[in-house]
Amino acid sequence: MVVNQQVVVVGSGIIGASVALACQDLGAEVTVLDKGPLGGIASGNSFGWINASFAENQAYFNLRNEALERFRALDQRLSLENHMRWQGTLWWEDVGRDFAEQFQVLTKRGYPSKLLKYSEIEILEPHLREVPNEAILTATEGAAQAKSVACAILDEVKRNGGTVRGCVPVTGVGQAAGRVCSVQTEVGELLCDVVVLATGAAAQNALLGLDWTLPMANNAGIILQTDPLPQVIQHVLMTPDVHFRQNLDGSFVAGEIFNGEINPNVSAIALASEIISRIQTKLRNIPKLGLTDVKIGIRVLCPWMGCLLLGPSRGLAGAYSCHVMHSGVTLAPLIGQLLAIGNVANGRSSPLLVRAFAPNRVLPELELYLSAYSQKLAVKIVKAVPINTAEAAMRRALPYIFANI
Ligand SMILES: Cc1cc2nc3c(=O)[nH]c(=O)nc-3n(C[C@H](O)[C@H](O)[C@H](O)COP(=O)(O)OP(=O)(O)OC[C@H]3O[C@@H](n4cnc5c(N)ncnc54)[C@H](O)[C@@H]3O)c2cc1C
Repeated sequence: MVVNQQVVVVGSGIIGASVALACQDLGAEVTVLDKGPLGGIASGNSFGWINASFAENQAYFNLRNEALERFRALDQRLSLENHMRWQGTLWWEDVGRDFAEQFQVLTKRGYPSKLLKYSEIEILEPHLREVPNEAILTATEGAAQAKSVACAILDEVKRNGGTVRGCVPVTGVGQAAGRVCSVQTEVGELLCDVVVLATGAAAQNALLGLDWTLPMANNAGIILQTDPLPQVIQHVLMTPDVHFRQNLDGSFVAGEIFNGEINPNVSAIALASEIISRIQTKLRNIPKLGLTDVKIGIRVLCPWMGCLLLGPSRGLAGAYSCHVMHSGVTLAPLIGQLLAIGNVANGRSSPLLVRAFAPNRVLPELELYLSAYSQKLAVKIVKAVPINTAEAAMRRALPYIFANI
């Protein structure tokens, strides 16, 4: 990133905010624009669990594990204690062989995890009425109110001289001599050298005249919130039929199936009430939980799990995609830096910063970038598995991106 380069980030969710801060840290003049209120859409409808425990393979685990460290660094830098907690997770979603396998994988990966028996769980969570016989404690994990973290990051961007504007839809990208030179918005044109699209679920559409469509597999998830209670649970609790945690203000946040689709035939309110009663049954000596908010969030997902869309446009220099297809809260601070550095590493940066953040120092797997090209936009699809496996899977999952290579 050239110092003083004008960077426009489109989208102010946790991903856009993180990219903006990372670009600013590298010396860019940053503007963040969002078509709606600041803080994002998916980011406002998220469970916000920050974890590396569920990664499909070792390399994706490494990525997420590194992301946890970056989140901790962000927390230290911005004092995020009003927006997140590092309360750890108690997990007993599965039983029997699946439970044992999960613990084995975590142990093999060297992830801080401990197998707890009934009596230990009882002590850690005294309000649990349905105490499981065993659970896995992953004490280094946390949870964030992702929208409010995004807003805290945007505040830092503003403090450092950046510009942040909500309610400014970006409609197009201006170009001159094959390079980005501006973004067009509903309130006028803004000159820039770089545009980063961090538009969440809008990733699936042809964006801003950059002729790109992606076969997304977005799905809907329910998130509900209750009125505040005193703190009665200490961890993120991942149980077989509900996952829930308490916010700092004491309100409960809960969802039903962690990654799965909600049943479209059940009304959101009915489902939320059912989820609330499951929580109520699991806890003792707590007042009746009152539902205050029900949200249906869209998970921005690629058909191919673990796939991130991160990288430069081939057709238009200076245009970048930063779409994280899964667990965007966990990955945001790291991905923001990788995107910013990806630009840096393309040759116009301070060597010191490149050394400090170079992906191949931290995450060798990220060198296994696979480039896939649509007619005008090339995206680097990062999949941290051996390249042949990744390519074969991607050819199956993303046929029309590959069609144009
Ligand atoms: C139910 C649910 C549970 C989840 N649970 C977890 C979890 O436990 N842990 C985890 O890590 N992740 C979780 N996620 C995923 C995570 O929330 C998302 O990956 C993350 O919030 C995506 O952030 P984002 O910034 O990419 O998108 P968003 O927050 O959606 O932000 C994108 C922004 O772009 C703006 N935008 C779009 N187009 C334009 C345009 N043309 N001009 C200007 N602005 C534009 C939008 O208005 C929006 O504000 C969950 C998601 C859901 C829905």
